[in-house]
Amino acid sequence: MKQQDNNSHTTTTRLLDNEPVGRTVQVVRVMGDGAFRQRLLEMGFVRGAQVTVLKNAPLQDPVEYMIMGSHISLRHSEAAQVEVTDKDAEFCDLEDAFNGIVETEVAGMDPMADNVLRVVLVGNPNCGKTSLFNNATGAREKVGNYGGVTVDSKEGWFNIDGHKVQLVDLPGTYSLTEYSPEEMYVRTYIRDNRPDAILNIVDAGNLERNLYLTTQLMDMNIPMVVALNMWDELEKSGDKLDIDMMGRLLGARMIPLTAYNGHGVKEVLQATMQAIEESEQETLHHNVNYGTLIEDCLKELGAMCPGMDRYTVLKIIENDQHAIDLLNGQDNAQEVKETAAEMRQRIERDYNSDIVSIITDLKYGFVRGALAEALTPNPERATGDTKPGYSMDRLLTNRWLALPILLVLMWLMFEATFTLGAYPQEWIESGIGKIGEWISHAMPDGILRDLIVDGIIGGVGGVLVFLPQILILFFFISLLEDSGYMARAAFIVDRIMHRVGLHGKSFIPYLIGFGCGVPAIMATRTLENRRDRIVTILTVPFMSCSARLPAYLLLVAAFFTAKQGLILMSIYLIGILVAALTAILLSKTILKHDKTQFVMELPPYRKPTARNAVIHMWSKGKQYLQKMATIILAASIIVWALGYFPRHEGQTPQEQIENSFMGKMGKAIEPVVEPLGFNWQMGVSVLTGAAAKEIVVSTMGVLYTGESDATEESASLKEKLQTATKPNGEHVFDPIVAYSFMLFILLYFPCIAALAAIRREAGTKWMLFEIVYTTGVAWLISFIFYQVARMI
Ligand code: GDP
Ligand code: MG
Repeated sequence: MKQQDNNSHTTTTRLLDNEPVGRTVQVVRVMGDGAFRQRLLEMGFVRGAQVTVLKNAPLQDPVEYMIMGSHISLRHSEAAQVEVTDKDAEFCDLEDAFNGIVETEVAGMDPMADNVLRVVLVGNPNCGKTSLFNNATGAREKVGNYGGVTVDSKEGWFNIDGHKVQLVDLPGTYSLTEYSPEEMYVRTYIRDNRPDAILNIVDAGNLERNLYLTTQLMDMNIPMVVALNMWDELEKSGDKLDIDMMGRLLGARMIPLTAYNGHGVKEVLQATMQAIEESEQETLHHNVNYGTLIEDCLKELGAMCPGMDRYTVLKIIENDQHAIDLLNGQDNAQEVKETAAEMRQRIERDYNSDIVSIITDLKYGFVRGALAEALTPNPERATGDTKPGYSMDRLLTNRWLALPILLVLMWLMFEATFTLGAYPQEWIESGIGKIGEWISHAMPDGILRDLIVDGIIGGVGGVLVFLPQILILFFFISLLEDSGYMARAAFIVDRIMHRVGLHGKSFIPYLIGFGCGVPAIMATRTLENRRDRIVTILTVPFMSCSARLPAYLLLVAAFFTAKQGLILMSIYLIGILVAALTAILLSKTILKHDKTQFVMELPPYRKPTARNAVIHMWSKGKQYLQKMATIILAASIIVWALGYFPRHEGQTPQEQIENSFMGKMGKAIEPVVEPLGFNWQMGVSVLTGAAAKEIVVSTMGVLYTGESDATEESASLKEKLQTATKPNGEHVFDPIVAYSFMLFILLYFPCIAALAAIRREAGTKWMLFEIVYTTGVAWLISFIFYQVARMI
């Protein structure tokens, strides 16, 4: 391939895809168009940037590259979009784009106009925003070494010099281009809330890429402070940064910070307050100087759009649809659009390139120019797998070991959850049993006693015993997130996920889904592609969440004597299989889309902190307890009451249940569940289990023993199930019925909380689809299994 560049050199170019592992090359250009190309440019794939091919994933796709000091995963098909040339080919002068800064005047602001001082935290994913936020406000938000852990904004307060200031932790973003949901969120937040200051957190060890976002923030004309976080790592690396010079070149206040231990937090907050104070007077703003041609355009167009910040004006010239939409309602909208189009043509002609690359190149040129002056890299600094923070990759993403290690880690996680959790579970169980006994003796016979003992203690207690397991599972998930392994897991399994039409990133929500579907559905926010997100959201409930476990444990213990572990695992595997088939089906039909492309960053490994894991565990535990105190408490009382009333004198407990409201309900739905091998008691259990899957067991407890303090351990319930007989004398349960029942519990109706999350993230339409689809699939699979198993 030959390419003519603007300096009229002729450069021989190749495709990045064909470069062997270990080679370093130079980017010439990114082909194609649209959002993916823009993302690549923003991640640093600009003219003249050096890329090193680090390694193929164990399944050969994707490939790990290093660019601007960060590790990025690209599929072969994506790397084929990048044209490269030899590392030392001379075709592009890196610093020639550095024009320094320009100063623009803006009117003073009144920070107290809305009675609150508001500061927003903006920065790349994983640069330490949440760590700073927690440190400054005393909050205990989740930090994590994985992009997209913060998907909402979190608000907190800090006090300084007698002022009370609101601090907002925004999701991590590489840019403000409004291409991913996070970018959109951050951009909209800043536009709508007009914070009094921006606190831009950058990773000091990765300035080139991090400062790109800074160049965009500078153009928003809001007072800004740049916090150079991970200062400890920069010092350790031996690189030298002249902060004063850097600050002068960029025209920004720069303060070193080590957020996770709190060094520099005070200085950063003070500098922010100072920036706010200064903004009260008429002030000069520092912006990237894009060179005479573009600066003239910005001035001219800016004058036509009073009230718009420089960022938006530039975006209009770039033909950005979101920015252009903001013109609606402005009298001269048409005129502005035409002028912008003319300017765009003029600029593109002059630079002999397309506008998006030109602006990105100029921004990166600005950053590089400043860094060339102010940063002295340690010449002995290691790179690649030998770089500190990446050495574990030699093992963990090793071609042969990666998949086995991933499987062992997952197995360890589940095994530890269940075996370690069993001890505290027993204590809680016997504690609850004692309380129930004590109340039974202490209280006189009557409805109130039955309600407390059978309804509340039985129902809620039966579910409370799983708290230890839940805590342990989330402890492990937190460790995986915090250490940086989650991104590797996505890297390793991308090829497999690709088969079902998804990206490796979907793996994380699935993994979290084994704990609980609600945070898993929230975690899909890291997926840029909306269709991908919806496919993931709709299939996450097939990952068997921990709430379903009590029912399996009960049934496996009662009806399978050998290979109990394997039986249990087969249920989980069937869930995964159904999810995979559903994903294929959806992405081939109603959610059909082009193959999803996105660049994923592999952050350096970091030591997970115990504090963090405990915070995470605690917040999950709190949520679980809240669920106990609300949904499950209410449901237990309702289930109990439906089985308790109407009362008739002189009935056996069995007759009482049969003639109760619950019994009548069960009889009504019996025909629907009969072909699956279920009787009416099981039908009622799955019905009530729709509120929360744990309730399946507590309902069985009410229906089979006449008292609901049943858990999977409770011998009486287990025995009752084993000996329960139909009117004709046959056993109600046998292994086939039990398995069919487990399949149904696995697949049907996600609980109310999960549906609420689906509705919030994907909309009502998809929530309704999910209800029908999951229940339909559950019925069909249980039906086929039961009928076929009966025949053979
Ligand atoms: P966010 O994604 O920007 O909110 O970043 P987090 O606050 O979640 O932090 C990302 C990771 O960087 C976590 O593993 C933190 O423990 C770690 N971290 C944060 N600040 C520092 C720091 O100053 N130095 C070092 N070495 N690590 C940090
Ligand atoms: Mg965060």
